[in-house]
Amino acid sequence: AGINFDNFDKIEIHVTGKGSDDFDQIKTFEEAELRDFLLNNVKKSGYKKPTPIQKRAIPIIMGKRDLMGCAQTGSGKTAAFVLPILNTIMNDKDTLNPGKPQCLIVAPTRELVIQIRDEAMKFASGSYVKVALAYGGAASRYQSENIVQGCHVLVATPGRLMDFVNKGVISFDDLKFLVLDEADRMLDMGFRDTIDKVCNHSTLNKDSLTIMMFSATFPDEIQRLAAQYLRNYLFLTVGIVGG
Ligand code: ADP
Ligand code: MG
Repeated sequence: AGINFDNFDKIEIHVTGKGSDDFDQIKTFEEAELRDFLLNNVKKSGYKKPTPIQKRAIPIIMGKRDLMGCAQTGSGKTAAFVLPILNTIMNDKDTLNPGKPQCLIVAPTRELVIQIRDEAMKFASGSYVKVALAYGGAASRYQSENIVQGCHVLVATPGRLMDFVNKGVISFDDLKFLVLDEADRMLDMGFRDTIDKVCNHSTLNKDSLTIMMFSATFPDEIQRLAAQYLRNYLFLTVGIVGG
């Protein structure tokens, strides 16, 4: 997987949904109006210009609209959601409460949650923003201690996440962003139940929550999932997305 910068400007981007024209496409990271701190870290990471999904998704997420994003693997989806989320968290400066993350990112595997955490840390490093991990196959004590001490962003696999929710380690009272990454793979792996439990959780405050789903494919089950949990959402596709 990787990004072919040669074909960058030829890739088609479509956004549909009510008010899709309200959000301009950014051509540079500067145009995204990210805080200087984040812009600096973007530059330090060697990112010279936004990928197609980043161009459209960053302004939409800064505007706190629910979003269903479909783009192939390697197209830069992680930074597309991580940057506007970190920007909002840093702008709001809301009190960090124990066990109550402000952003929850759910992804299907341990490998993926670690990659997402690493990408988030690249941009958050040097700031006060705390990013914690929860995944199975490792002792839960260290993970739960980090969560209980307080984390702005929690990146979790479905199994370990529900473990912690059921044990009362995590609650969703302070959540303002929920990201379901690689949603198609999560359904293939049988995590539909967990997704339902998270999205219907009694501690979720839906009025102040922005939900995003990302997927490489867009089969019927993904369409139904988006219709069920996203509200007044925009649908963003990059290139040709198979069903
Ligand atoms: P996806 O989630 O769509 O599969 P990733 O977010 O994992 O893609 O990104 C794939 C790779 O591209 C990663 O190594 C990431 O660091 C890199 N990348 C993302 N955005 C940019 C960019 N704007 N410029 C250069 N590299 C980027
Ligand atoms: Mg990804």
